[in-house]
Amino acid sequence: MSGPDGAGKPRALIVEDEEHLAQLVADYLARDQIAAEIAADGERALEMARASRPDVVVLDLMLPGIDGIEVCRRLRTFSDAYVIMLTARAEETDKLIGLAVGADDYMTKPFSPRELTARIRAMLRRPRGPQLGDGGPARRFGDLVIDPEAREAAVAGSPADLTKLEFDLLDVLSSRPRAVFTRRQLVDRVWGQDWFGDEHIVDVHVMRLRRKLGDDADRPRYVLAVRGVGYRMGPGT
Ligand code: CA
Repeated sequence: MSGPDGAGKPRALIVEDEEHLAQLVADYLARDQIAAEIAADGERALEMARASRPDVVVLDLMLPGIDGIEVCRRLRTFSDAYVIMLTARAEETDKLIGLAVGADDYMTKPFSPRELTARIRAMLRRPRGPQLGDGGPARRFGDLVIDPEAREAAVAGSPADLTKLEFDLLDVLSSRPRAVFTRRQLVDRVWGQDWFGDEHIVDVHVMRLRRKLGDDADRPRYVLAVRGVGYRMGPGT
């Protein structure tokens, strides 16, 4: 299993310019068998992420130089690591922007390092790929084709560039094309039963998924909202 150099352990990259806070988080993760590296600014974080391919990135919003939003945007061009964003303010807009550029979760400072570690553990434990839906043959919804085995989705033949989390969401929804899933069910299946954030995180990720599928939020073709209940896939053809 894990060697003395941390091989085999999940890897985290902590991007935080407050040195003692970064070290505190690293220590908590290390205690939980997660190998942690620290980057004190965004440019360095991107270099390190390219080199070490972390499984999860803990990303502070307020950084010297390029900010956490921009780091996340650039990170998403080459990495599908889980991203937890740290925001100093409880402002909803920061969280939403963070999620819109590809973060998977966020925590507001001050936060408990223990809770952060628990959330990272929950993310890393999430079932992946074919275990989520039922695998099997490609599923078609109009122009949208989802291949659960290859974990690929394409619209009219063009591959959609989805993060792990976005694909998982689409995989679960399309595994039962006629079923309506509640937000809670989607959270349980995609984020894991021990995830304890706001269920409306589902809405933000559906929004992003629709955008990547070229779907119109006002008249979506693929991921439909069922008022007061949750979401289901559009009518298959
Ligand atoms: Ca900071």
